[in-house]
Amino acid sequence: MSQLLDRAVDELAKLPGVGERTALRLALHLLRQPVEGVDALAGALVSFRRNIKFCRMCNNLSDSELCPICADASRDKTTVCVVEQVKDVLSIEHTRSYRGLYHVLGGVISPIQGVGPSDLKINLLTDRVGGGEVKEVILALSTSIEGETTGYYISRQLSDFGVKVSTIARGIGFGDEIDYADDITLVHAISNRTTL
Ligand SMILES: [Zn+2]
Repeated sequence: MSQLLDRAVDELAKLPGVGERTALRLALHLLRQPVEGVDALAGALVSFRRNIKFCRMCNNLSDSELCPICADASRDKTTVCVVEQVKDVLSIEHTRSYRGLYHVLGGVISPIQGVGPSDLKINLLTDRVGGGEVKEVILALSTSIEGETTGYYISRQLSDFGVKVSTIARGIGFGDEIDYADDITLVHAISNRTTL
């Protein structure tokens, strides 16, 4: 019918959770929008992809060298919460109850998927802790085997630095990811953390 439509649908269908039918619906929706609106959407996506940075301290997404959380003088720089993904930072920030800093690993150790410690930002974390300002590292990883393995590995890497290493309380069920937990569960999980 239209190669232009086919191409738009093909690209949209590559997005997670978007099947062929949804892709077609989205493409036809965009067709009904003013062309400026579609330009703005495309422009925002391209600019995001091209210009986004990773914070040099915590590996969080950022528009500049340091993310707004690391750059915020009012945050407690002695406490670092280790998470798997950027979306976990957003979940914990949403609770508005945590005032420390973060460290985004970028995943978990998974031999099956070929992810080893060197594929994650663990060295960046140990360098950071080695700097001396950090007093407590809170592990907020998923309760999967991979999450547990990663937590164990990190706690061993940090054992020589004399920092307190704790893990968030498991009100969250086994296999649950941080970002599916609601705010109250998450606040409870962080405040009831246990020292390793
Ligand atoms: Zn940062």
